[in-house]
Amino acid sequence: MAADELAAQTKAVEKAPDLSSVDPADSRTGQPARPSLNCAGVSTRVPGSGGDMAGFDCRACRSANTTLVLDLGMVPAADTFAQASDTCEDRRFPLTLYACGDCSLVQLGPLEHPPGPEESRAVDSQTARGHAQASVGTVVEQLGLSPGQTVIELDSAHGASWLPSFVDAGLVPLPEDAVADLVVDVHHLMHAEDLNEVMAAHARRMAPSGHLVCEFFHVRPLVEHCLIDTIRHGHYAYLSVIALERLLARHSLALVDAVPVDVYGGSVRSTIRHVTSAQEAHPRVAEIKRAESSLGVDGPDALLELGARGREVTTALRQHLEGLTAAGRTVAGYGAPSKAPVLLALAQVDVDLLPFTVDMAPQKHGLRVAGTSIPIHPVERLLSARPDDVVVLTWDIADEVASHLARSSAGSGWSPRLYVPLPEPRTLSLPTV
Ligand SMILES: [Zn+2]
Repeated sequence: MAADELAAQTKAVEKAPDLSSVDPADSRTGQPARPSLNCAGVSTRVPGSGGDMAGFDCRACRSANTTLVLDLGMVPAADTFAQASDTCEDRRFPLTLYACGDCSLVQLGPLEHPPGPEESRAVDSQTARGHAQASVGTVVEQLGLSPGQTVIELDSAHGASWLPSFVDAGLVPLPEDAVADLVVDVHHLMHAEDLNEVMAAHARRMAPSGHLVCEFFHVRPLVEHCLIDTIRHGHYAYLSVIALERLLARHSLALVDAVPVDVYGGSVRSTIRHVTSAQEAHPRVAEIKRAESSLGVDGPDALLELGARGREVTTALRQHLEGLTAAGRTVAGYGAPSKAPVLLALAQVDVDLLPFTVDMAPQKHGLRVAGTSIPIHPVERLLSARPDDVVVLTWDIADEVASHLARSSAGSGWSPRLYVPLPEPRTLSLPTV
């Protein structure tokens, strides 16, 4: 999107009425609207403002020195998929971010009744499968692993297991309660309410000269690109390398390497050893920490700006869809990832603006996106409906989606315009195949 277009939208946002008091009836369908999402403002509250949003103990260092930095209001649990025909209201939970003043961990706020554990219904994307294979090749080479050495992989709700590739390389898989040469945690740690507990268990699993490879969402791109829908229930921590090192130190572990990797909007693959067997950290660890400090993600200030920036992103999505509808263009979504309920709730987008979405996972077909009435259909529905525009809700694999649609529709004459809401709102055409 052109900078001036985004600026114009931002201006419109500033003038927009407070949508938290939405009309009780939907103007288009006449149907009763879902209750106020209480999040249209994507507000930040003044830290320490008290009430029920008082600080809580850090999920890593237990410090009470935590600050509320973002309040997204009441948002449906990301992984609740009701039947499309089920018109019951989905339960909503507070979605807040806190920053720890002592260990710098950015984390989900307190949840009195947290939603259930994330249940993977997703089909691994080609991007995720390729990433798993490439990562294993790199790890085996860099750590000098050889056939017969042992590996433990902790389950990740994000799927795309690395274990089959390790087995292909000759490593021997062991159960979670064993001790192994290599422990692999790919997006597992952040799903734990208690990070200390997980890291203590990792330390027990690692042989004295063993390695832990831990890949996690990196808070830097989250803040830098305002990846607002990455923040959701079930993701309890948004780690920086600075916060990770402080967590490791409490378990006599040391970070020896950290590499930014381009998956899920921006992650880091870290290599960790027992302090007793750790070599000096690779210079890029210090580089990443310097970049984190200069962006300010080790303190609350940069995070306090996320609310206003998130409002720009979600308002841009809503205004884009309103513009398409006003212009008489037909539109549908691509993907029903667990981040979609957050993005659509914050943008106040429902079935009147996005009549349906499609997903590769058969387990999601016939269901609807939580907090909305938007049904989830097989991808074939998109090819038969041939909408003018497609909103890519799985924006982190937008290029893979574009290629897939181009191949699937080759020769049909259908060539929709794709809208990718994040990390920067942009439109793209299907590539030539
Ligand atoms: Zn802390």
